[in-house]
Amino acid sequence: MSQTPRVGLYLGPETIVRNPGYLEALREQIGLNWVILSYTGELPPDVLAHSPYDGAPPSPERVRSLIARHLDGQPSTTEFKSAMLSVGPHFGAAHNEPQLRQAIDLIHAAGLDVWLLAGMYTASDFDVLMYCPSREENNRWYEAAYTHMATAYGVEGVDVTHARFPMTSYPRGLFLCMCDSCAQAAAALGYDMAAMQADIRHAYTRLKQLDPRQVTSLAQHDMGPFDLLQYLGVRTGVFDWFTFRTQLIARNVQRFHTAVHRAAGPDFIFGVDTYPASLATLAGHNLSRWAEFSDFASPLLSHVDIFPMKTMTVWAQFLRSLLPQISEADALQIVYRVTGYATLDLPHSIADFALGEPDCEYRNIPLRDFVAHDMAKAKVMLPPGLPAYPIIQGGGAPWDWPRPIVEQLMDDALRLGYEGTIFQGTRVLLDFDLQK
Ligand SMILES: [Zn+2]
Repeated sequence: MSQTPRVGLYLGPETIVRNPGYLEALREQIGLNWVILSYTGELPPDVLAHSPYDGAPPSPERVRSLIARHLDGQPSTTEFKSAMLSVGPHFGAAHNEPQLRQAIDLIHAAGLDVWLLAGMYTASDFDVLMYCPSREENNRWYEAAYTHMATAYGVEGVDVTHARFPMTSYPRGLFLCMCDSCAQAAAALGYDMAAMQADIRHAYTRLKQLDPRQVTSLAQHDMGPFDLLQYLGVRTGVFDWFTFRTQLIARNVQRFHTAVHRAAGPDFIFGVDTYPASLATLAGHNLSRWAEFSDFASPLLSHVDIFPMKTMTVWAQFLRSLLPQISEADALQIVYRVTGYATLDLPHSIADFALGEPDCEYRNIPLRDFVAHDMAKAKVMLPPGLPAYPIIQGGGAPWDWPRPIVEQLMDDALRLGYEGTIFQGTRVLLDFDLQK
C-alpha cells in the first residue's frame, strides 16, 4: 500500500498535560496521527438525567437490578466497587473537565486527531460487572453519553470499548445474560430463550458424560468442527445462543451509531473495538457485520495474556474438572483445536503459560505468530473497505514486548491490508522520560 500508515495511541488527559513535547516526539518518531483519549469529562445534568442509577453512588439494589443474569438467575457479580465510583454504567464519578479540554487542545495543536474513549456493557471484566444489554435504562444512558461526547468537545471521533460480554476466560460469562429483558430481546430477534437454555443445560450434562479415552484420542487427531458436531451431540440452541448475543450487540451498537451520527454529522467517526477474532463469537462479536454499526475496526490484540492465554488455561482446567482422567497436556490440546490456535507452537502445561509474569506473552508463546494469527483472521472476516487498525503493545500497558516483535507486527498489519496500527503504551517505541 502506498498511503502513509495511520498510527494511533491510547492516552489519558493527565499524561498529555504533564508531558510537554511527548505528542510532538511521537508524531516525529513513530508517525502518530491520532490519540484515543480517555474520557474524564463532567457529564452535564441533561445527560446525568438519563443515568439508570437511583443516586450517585447508586444503591446496591439498583445496581443488582441493572446487571446481567446467569442461567441460574444469579447476578453477574456481587462486587459493586466500581459501580459505587460511577455516575452511570461505565462512567466514573471522578472528572476533570478543564484538564480534558486542555488535552484536546494540545492534541489538536500538535496536528493530531482526537477520538474520545468510553466504555459499554462489561464495565469491569475482573469483577464481571456487566450491565444488561437489553435493559432500556442502560441503553438510553449510553446513547445520551456518547452523543454528548461526540458533540460537546470538537473531537473527530468516539471509540467505545467493552461493547461485549465478559472476557472468555470467565466461563460463566459465556452464558450471560439470561434475564427477562434479554428473553424479550431474544424473542424480538427470532430466538427462543427457554429453548436455548434447555440446550445449554443439555450440553453441560453431555460434556460430563464424555468418555475420557475418546476425548484423549480426539486431542491427538486433527478434529474439525464437524467431528465435534457428531461427537459432542450438542443441540442447535447452543449455537443459537452465541449468534443471538452477537445480534444483540450489533443491534444495540447500531442504535448508538445512528444517534451519534444524527447529532454529530455523517463525517464523525463512531465505533467499537473487536475481541480477538478466534474468540470473538464467544464475547458477542461478529466481525463480518462490523461495517453495519462501526466506522472502523480495531482488533484488540494487545492483551495476549488475559484474553486468549488465560482463556486456554481456564478452559483446560474446566474440561479437567468435568473429566479428571484427561491429562493437562491433552486438555490444552483440545482447547487449542477448538479455539483455532492448534497450528501454533503452544505450551504443553499450564505452568508454562507463566501467567502474571512480565515476559509471559513471549517466554513460551510465539508472540509474533500468535498476534499475527488473530490479525490475519480478523482481516479476512472484517468487511472489505472498513478502515481497520490492530491494537498492539507499544510497551508498558502493562507489559513490554520486544521491540523487534513490535516492528514485525506493524509490518504484518500493513502486509495484511490494515491501514495502520493502534498502540497501548510507548515504552519500547520511544525514549521519553514520561511523567505519570
Ligand atoms: Zn439481560
